[in-house]
Amino acid sequence: MARKCSCQICKAKGNTDVFYKVTDDKGKNKYYCSKEEYDSFIKEKEKREYLIKYIAVDIFNYDEGQIVPPVLLKKIKELHGFYDYEVIYECFKESKDSIKYWIENKGFSSEYGMISYIMKIIESNINDIYNKWKYKKSQEQKQEKKKETEILDIGFMNQVKEKVSQQKKKGIMEFLDEEDI
Ligand SMILES: [Zn+2]
Repeated sequence: MARKCSCQICKAKGNTDVFYKVTDDKGKNKYYCSKEEYDSFIKEKEKREYLIKYIAVDIFNYDEGQIVPPVLLKKIKELHGFYDYEVIYECFKESKDSIKYWIENKGFSSEYGMISYIMKIIESNINDIYNKWKYKKSQEQKQEKKKETEILDIGFMNQVKEKVSQQKKKGIMEFLDEEDI
């Protein structure tokens, strides 16, 4: 029987019959509005983890599991208010050498000062990265649309061919009917 439940992500109310169910590793059922909402939530989470790990390991040379400064996480959250995690990741990747240079040579007296400086570097580069990313995305979308149209075109052409050959057969039959019999 359907029970009332609410979406784990957006808190919308619904019931267990229509909502998408995911059983977690403890055997507990969790509900979401739709599979799409759940999938994109998980994908976002993975992209974020990938980014944070990159910053920790590749930029700060942290050991696996070492905690990333909360102030940095907060700044990334702010950036993510507009920029996709992919863009933020690309930006850290592009700025890696200069960030590492400043960490080694600037002699920061506090972690907060260091993070602020890093974020200045990121903020000054991010719009270039964003524009490139946006262009790449739009090219990918165009490519996908083109593929879809091509598939549709082939389907349509096959239908036309079929119709023409049917017409031809019919034409010959009619011709035979009228004249030869
Ligand atoms: Zn929802």
